[in-house]
Order: sequence, then structure tokens, then C-alpha cells
Amino acid sequence: MASNTRLFDELKSAARRPEMRIFWFSTPFLIAIFILNVIYLPAFLIFMGGGLLALVAAVVFASSYRVARLNQSIAIEQSELRGIISSLEDALIAYDQNFNVLFFNPAAERLFKLEQEKVLAHRLEPQDIERPEWNLLAQAVFPSLAPGMVARSRAGVYPQVVDISFSDPVLELRVVTSPISDGRGGVLGFMKIVHDRTREALLIKSKSEFLTVASHQLRGPLTNISWALQTLSEDKTVSGESASLVESARTATRQLLMIIEDLLNVTKIEEGHFGYTFQPLNLVAFIEKVLEGALPQARRTGVALYLEKPNEPIPELSADPQKLSMVMSNLLDNAIRYNIPSGEVVVRAHRVPQQPFVEVAVKDSGIGIPQDQIGKIFSKFFRADNALKFQTEGSGLGLYIAKNIIQAHGGQMWAESEEKRGSVFRFTLPTDPTLIPSREAAQGY
Ligand code: ADP
Repeated sequence: MASNTRLFDELKSAARRPEMRIFWFSTPFLIAIFILNVIYLPAFLIFMGGGLLALVAAVVFASSYRVARLNQSIAIEQSELRGIISSLEDALIAYDQNFNVLFFNPAAERLFKLEQEKVLAHRLEPQDIERPEWNLLAQAVFPSLAPGMVARSRAGVYPQVVDISFSDPVLELRVVTSPISDGRGGVLGFMKIVHDRTREALLIKSKSEFLTVASHQLRGPLTNISWALQTLSEDKTVSGESASLVESARTATRQLLMIIEDLLNVTKIEEGHFGYTFQPLNLVAFIEKVLEGALPQARRTGVALYLEKPNEPIPELSADPQKLSMVMSNLLDNAIRYNIPSGEVVVRAHRVPQQPFVEVAVKDSGIGIPQDQIGKIFSKFFRADNALKFQTEGSGLGLYIAKNIIQAHGGQMWAESEEKRGSVFRFTLPTDPTLIPSREAAQGY
């Protein structure tokens, strides 16, 4: 009974919709034709004609009713979508291939301080950057023209993610761009989601500032303790158990100082103030020098160090030798520390075929990295289970710093490994200096 009433109500509401007009218009004609049938046709044809007209009426009704129902559900979906988009905290802008804005939600109106009507009637162009009212929106739509832009995704890969910073007033935006597809591989336009991350960035900055101050405060007294322990270790009157206690205190202090140094470097990286000085660099001569520095540690632990020279000459690179030696020293230190007795470490350098890059690989015969943890080793403070058991010393910050240094040079860093078999750490550096990012920015946080 209830379902009959619902069907009746549904039919009644559909009957009022504009899509049903065709049925209502055609009804009087069908009735008129039926009356003419009754007047002029013999009895058996009246029956057939009537049936035919009833069939036509039913078909018109059914198809109009279907269109009405479909349009109704599309309208409901559209209004739901509009409601969601309108209440979004993030700004949403959609525009066609000619940069005519198709959609501009209320959050976008608030962020860019522009009214929807005004933006929808406007065709965006790079010259808008010169106009104060349009400047912010133009930089979000054409981020490559924004002076404070940092790319967070690889070029040409969607969604494109870029960060844009403004200083007056302070504003940090993350812009995510995706193409609007026509469903057949064509692109109708683009959609941008602009997230205002000013508060987040300020929180990260104040956390970094706190870490910097705390690390500096700790470094002073620790250096004094280290000096005192050094003096004690040279004192001939301290011997036996006391001497070994002094020695382990010295090792612990040295480790703590190294962790503090790493922490200070991490905060500088995350604030974008690590300070790179690029200069011409002969890569092979540079690697030879770093290997020389690592030789005493390798000899102490019985690990053999080799350099495989490239088959073809490597062009001069533009790099910061001090920062790059931090990378190489960390990779070599890990390759030696996580190695087996009488293991080996091989360093190779070569040009990447058909690409403006050189690749450096540091291969060891050590403990390796468990498969399920290899994706995490470049994260801050991460140390794999097997490494924790094997070597208690370590901060888990070295690889994070190394990867950031390589990315600041315009290169990439990754690792391949098999547990108990060894690991290969690889990084690339561009041979074309224009591939070096113009602005320092921390990756992966
Ligand atoms: P640390 O060596 O101080 O722990 P790193 O950031 O240099 O910090 O390395 C992070 C982790 O990556 C290490 O704790 C270890 O689990 C793993 N790792 C790095 N290099 C190697 C290597 N050559 N062989 C095996 N594991 C490695």
C-alpha cells in the first residue's frame, strides 16, 4: 500500500516536470486522432487504431518519464557536489585551455580577495602578475612565473604540486594541478586546489627555531665535558676500570655531539638556510680524496675500498664540495659500518646514457636492508631493525641529510639492497647547471 502511494507521488511529481511537456502536448492530438477514428473508420479498424494510439502514448510517456527522472537525479548530484565544493576549506579553481575560469569556489574568493562573477568574466593571462588585484591568482595559475616557487613533484607528471611563498604579507600556498579530461584522452582544461599552509609553515618554523636554540644550548656544555674527558684520558694516574669508564664516556659524548651536529643541519635544511656554494668540480678527483679520508676507518674494520674509474670522461660539474663530501662520507661510513669482516666497498661513477646526469654508486657486501624497510631509510631518525642490532651507534639522520643535499643539487638518491647480501646507494648529479634548483627547499617534509 505504502509503495503504491509512493509510486503515485513519484508519478505526480514527475508529471509536473518540464521534460513531460512533450507527453502533455501530444495527448490532445492523440485524442483528436482517436475521435476521428471513431467517426470515420469501420468498427474493427477503430479497435486497431485505438490500440496503436495507446501504444504511441505509452512510449511517449515512458521516454519522457525516464528523461525527467534522469535529469532529476543529475540535478540532485550536481547540487550535492556544489555543496561540497562550496564548503571546501581549500580554494578550487577550474579553467579551460584558453584560461577562461569555469569555476571559482567561495574559499577561492576569500583567499584571492576576488569575487566569483568578476573572475568568471575574466580570461587569465601571465600579464595579470603586474596587476595588484590579480597578482596572487595569476601566480597560483602560472606558478613558473612566481619568484618564490618550489616544485614538489617531477616535471610533466600529474598531479603537479608546487609551493609558492609570499613575504608581504606572509603567505604559504600549496597548489595542486590536475587536468580535466574529456574521458577520451583529451584535455578540456585544468583544476587547481590551493591549500593555504601559512599556519602549518609557521608551526614548522617555530619548531625548527626551538630545535636550533636547544641544540646550540646543549652543544656548549657537551663540548666542555668532551674536553674534560680528553684531559682525563691523557692522565696517566687514571688507569684500569676508571680509564675504561672515561673511554666509554668519551665515546658517548662524541656520539651526542654528532647527533647535535646532525640536528642542527636538519633544522637548517628545513628552514631552507643550509647555504650552498656551487663551484666547478672534478668528480673523480673529488671521490678519490673522500676515499682517502675513509681509508683509516676501512683498515681498522678490515673492509677493502675500491674505486672503479669511468670508461668515458666525466664533464666538470657545478657542486658544493663541502656538502657533497658530507654525502659521500655518510655513504662510505654506512657502507663500512654495516659491512661484514673482510667485506668490500666499491665506488663507481659514470655518465647516464642520453641524459644530462652522472651517477655515483656506493656498493657494499654488508648486512643489507630488510625489503619492508627500504622505503623508510631516507626518513628522519629511521634505523632498520638489523642495523639497530648490529650497530648501536647512529642517529638515523645521515641519509635524510644526504638525500636533501643531492636534491638541492638537482639530483636524485635511492637505494637497492638485499638482506645479508649487501646494498647499493646511488645518486645522480646534473651535468647541466640549469637543472640545479634556484631556491633551497627541504624535500620530504
Ligand atoms: P645511521 O647510520 O646513523 O643510523 P643513516 O641515516 O645514515 O643513519 O642510515 C639510516 C639507516 O639506513 C641505518 O640505520 C640503516 O638501517 C640503513 N642503512 C644505511 N646504509 C646502510 C648500508 N650500507 N647497509 C645496510 N643498512 C644501511
